[in-house]
Amino acid sequence: MKLDLHTHTTASDGVLSPEDLVGLAKKSGLDALAITDHDTVAGLSEAMKSAMDHSIQIIPGMEVSCVASGIPCHILGYFIDYKSSIVTAYTAGAIRAREERMNRMLDRLADQNIIIQIEDVIREAGPERSSLGRPHLARALVRKNYASSITDAFDKLIGDQHPAQMAIDALGATEAIRLIRDSGGIAVWAHPRLEVLDKLLPELVAVGLRGLEVYRPKSSPQHILALKTRATKMDLLVTGGSDWHGPGLGVDLGRFYVTDDDVNQFLREGQLLA
Ligand code: AMP
Ligand code: ZN
Ligand code: FE
Ligand code: FE
Repeated sequence: MKLDLHTHTTASDGVLSPEDLVGLAKKSGLDALAITDHDTVAGLSEAMKSAMDHSIQIIPGMEVSCVASGIPCHILGYFIDYKSSIVTAYTAGAIRAREERMNRMLDRLADQNIIIQIEDVIREAGPERSSLGRPHLARALVRKNYASSITDAFDKLIGDQHPAQMAIDALGATEAIRLIRDSGGIAVWAHPRLEVLDKLLPELVAVGLRGLEVYRPKSSPQHILALKTRATKMDLLVTGGSDWHGPGLGVDLGRFYVTDDDVNQFLREGQLLA
């Protein structure tokens, strides 16, 4: 079985609609796909529906932006009850917070005489978007010739190190993990950086973190080994995914995958395997 446990759609900052992503995933040889849009579950119903036509398993997910001890991090929630009122309440607030943050970023850019309107960003995000993200802003910057490519926009203007980058008014990691657990999900730390791993891991595990995203397309063997060692030591699940956002952005869909062997325990806890 080939699985990709981390992907994005037009519901957040991905390029393909949920339906097109599911179709491409099947065509690309994947047997299971987790859809993990940023702070929204708006793509999941459509994905579930099209999965029925494509005989591929969809794992419902969401990538929650949060802050642990002042450090921004992403927690993946898998197998969440995405129709629950807790999730609905969370995403409504998070979508608003992302819009507010986008407006603050546009103000910061305007201070540098870079003029982008919120409508420009919303237009780039498309009619299916639910949560706004920096990639939408990057596309607007490219369209208005302030940057030559998405990468250039991040490198020059809106990457983490730039003054125009503003933090999202996000949940604390404790609340993020609680949200995922309260909606029946499994909380997994997305793309943990080695520099903050040992600092943050104990506090995250103490509040119910269940796993680490170990396998990623560009991870070094050392990085994978370090994460696997922590997972074993702390009795955590391991997962893996491509963090796919669209054609031509990173590795092709289906080129990177994990097997049911790699993530066996995760699939058991999610009740996809007996
Ligand atoms: P946000 O959650 O709005 O801060 O946006 C984060 C998203 O921006 C990530 O999930 C990536 O999709 C994208 N991103 C972050 N850094 C870069 C970069 N250097 N180049 C291209 N995309 C990036
Ligand atoms: Zn993204
Ligand atoms: Fe992420
Ligand atoms: Fe992601």
